[in-house]
Amino acid sequence: MSEGAARPRAVIIGAGIGGLAAAAGLHAAGWDVTGYERAASLEPVGAGLALAPNGLRALDVFGAGDAVRAHAIGQEIGIRRPDGRWLLRSSTERMVTDRFGDPVILLPRSRLIEALASRVPAGVLALSTEVTSAGQDGHVATAAGPLDADLVVAADGLSSATRAALFPDHPGPRYAGFTTWRLLTPEFPGPVPMSETWGPGSVFGVMPLADGRVYCYAAAPAPRGAHSPDDELAELVRRFGGWHKPIPALLGSATPESVLRHDVAELAEPLPAMHRGRVALLGDAAHPMTPNLGQGACQALEDAAVLARLATGLDGSGVPGMLARYTAMRLARTTKIVRLSRRAGRMTTWTSPPAIALRDGLAMTLGKLAPAAALRGLAPIYDWHPPATTPK
Ligand SMILES: Cc1cc2nc3c(=O)[nH]c(=O)nc-3n(C[C@H](O)[C@H](O)[C@H](O)COP(=O)(O)OP(=O)(O)OC[C@H]3O[C@@H](n4cnc5c(N)ncnc54)[C@H](O)[C@@H]3O)c2cc1C
Repeated sequence: MSEGAARPRAVIIGAGIGGLAAAAGLHAAGWDVTGYERAASLEPVGAGLALAPNGLRALDVFGAGDAVRAHAIGQEIGIRRPDGRWLLRSSTERMVTDRFGDPVILLPRSRLIEALASRVPAGVLALSTEVTSAGQDGHVATAAGPLDADLVVAADGLSSATRAALFPDHPGPRYAGFTTWRLLTPEFPGPVPMSETWGPGSVFGVMPLADGRVYCYAAAPAPRGAHSPDDELAELVRRFGGWHKPIPALLGSATPESVLRHDVAELAEPLPAMHRGRVALLGDAAHPMTPNLGQGACQALEDAAVLARLATGLDGSGVPGMLARYTAMRLARTTKIVRLSRRAGRMTTWTSPPAIALRDGLAMTLGKLAPAAALRGLAPIYDWHPPATTPK
């Protein structure tokens, strides 16, 4: 950016994890940022969240990594059967830290939103303001009036209207065939071992948090749009109330209002690019994925970190070239992770007893003989580092 020149202007659509990270990163890169969020507040949807070492490194670009690392509790994680037997239990936590420099951190989603929002100056975000269109030329129409930007970042989530407008021939996200439930219990008397339990066709995760609460999630195949005839907590009790301790007690401590249910969708066919003209797609707007690898938010943070680094020292005229580099740096990686996440989910939806026996046997063997091999499998995902300098 030349001295004395007007600061380049960025408009960000959406203030979820991706939009807030982009706002923090572009502001720190010297841009004049305006963010629009149609919701009236930044109330986080989604109970808890896991952030892997790659997501933490992306957060460091916005100065928010250590606020999240403070939530580490250093517990082992394992895989169990519904009767409680451990299929795999090892000191993966320590091994992940040794191998990748950070553990996987579990935290309430609200804490991540707070950490990011605290890096966005007052006045940048306009809440209760819907963006009604965004053109490739940077012209943005909002409920509050029009604006012309050098760069538009569409972080408008899974059902992104910007994606549909920029890529009208693309089929968009498709239902992944299963639904998920998430809840945060009140403070729960421990100890609560961290585990994911694999049953026939379904999964239940138990993730203790640093503040004494427990983040629980579950997944099961279901027709799209289905809902429980009474309430979703009652549905969880019917499905998982007979599984091992402490799952019944955790469900018993929760309230029906704390349970969120969402059908899972993914972008089975990747986009041809993550930008068009002056508009960049970011996070779930660009590459919605199944939650099986816990990478959706991590990839949104990586997108924002790359964009912030590319935008450092750039004036508005360089935006089309910058976004070509953004696509070059992000599309292949995120396409691969969408695919890996889908593959990781397949095993947990198996329902035939021989297939389950094979799966459980493999998990036990892996846990006993080859935890290092399991870590090697994560390396392509966790071993990501933000670009150190602005590639020109
Ligand atoms: C069950 C489940 C568990 C998950 N667990 C993990 C995990 O452990 N780790 C992980 O990394 N990821 C996880 N994810 C994925 C993660 O939640 C998402 O990838 C991430 O939240 C996407 O963030 P985003 O900012 O791209 O989109 P969103 O969070 O969807 O934000 C989009 C925002 O844009 C706003 N918006 C939309 N349209 C407009 C408009 N026209 N004008 C103004 N505002 C608009 C919306 O109101 C919204 O606030 C999980 C997902 C699920 C379903």
